Amino acid sequence: MINQQVYKNLIAELTSNNITLVAVSKTKPVEEIKQLYDLGQRDFGENYVQELVEKQKQLPQDIRWHFIGHLQSNKVRQIVPFVHLIHGVDSLKLLKEINKQAAKINRAVDCLLQIHIATEETKFGMNEAELLTLLKDINGIELKNVRICGLMGMASFTDDLEKVRGEFKQLRRLFDRVKRQYSSSQLQFSIVSMGMTADYKMAIEEGSNMVRIGSLIFGERN
Ligand SMILES: *Cc1c(COP(=O)(O)O)cnc(C)c1O
Repeated sequence: MINQQVYKNLIAELTSNNITLVAVSKTKPVEEIKQLYDLGQRDFGENYVQELVEKQKQLPQDIRWHFIGHLQSNKVRQIVPFVHLIHGVDSLKLLKEINKQAAKINRAVDCLLQIHIATEETKFGMNEAELLTLLKDINGIELKNVRICGLMGMASFTDDLEKVRGEFKQLRRLFDRVKRQYSSSQLQFSIVSMGMTADYKMAIEEGSNMVRIGSLIFGERN
């Protein structure tokens, strides 16, 4: 069940600070997404391609769908026609595939590059060196059908809040540096996507302008 009062307080706080809320609706039924939609929410995030495609068909067409999971190249084609922002791009191969599929339907798809800021092995993303290599590599090739709009990261899952803060700081610093040093028609940095239910306040303190929040709004997932 969605928590209306929590949502209203949250969206008021975020809106007044120019921070975009992506309501993470993975595993939650379309009825609950519609309830939140009726309160005015338009940005929703999903992790699995199949689930996203099913929900997109059943829900209002003006929802802005964010793909926040790990995207496999062979599934890109399924979401490219409608996706609003792909958060988890972590290789040139994936970026090229998005560009190729988007070109077929004459769209330009917005993407974020995912940076590995946590110390856990399980989280996806590039390290700093890999990011800089990718930025060099895309210089020589034409990717007319993708726009790289910024960075996304997930902090470590830990009670050590100073560690989490350090990881967010690192991501924001990297964002500022890339924004300063690289700029082209396909690279237009404006978004830092960081912060979830457990750590979004800290992420905002460290310069996030897009948070991805699920359980605080929708309740715990099973
Ligand atoms: C599930 C998920 C979230 C939301 O997590 P909550 O703790 O429920 O807020 C945010 N980002 C990503 C990438 C996720 O997979």
